[in-house]
Amino acid sequence: MNCCHCRSGLNRGTADYTGSRGGYLIVLRDVPAWTCPQCGEALFEESVVERIQEVLAHIDEQAGRLRDVA
Ligand SMILES: [Zn+2]
Repeated sequence: MNCCHCRSGLNRGTADYTGSRGGYLIVLRDVPAWTCPQCGEALFEESVVERIQEVLAHIDEQAGRLRDVA
């Protein structure tokens, strides 16, 4: 697999995933990823992205409970 920016060969490693939703900003550290030794670009495999989406869905659900506290 090659970097989509600089075409260097990617290494197996980990990267931080940063995502922002309406109500929060989230950083998931050390997520399995392919990383570029040249430009530092990180690529997440589809299975990992699906996992991340599941985690975010749980957080969405739980974050909604904060709005119910009055
Ligand atoms: Zn690159």
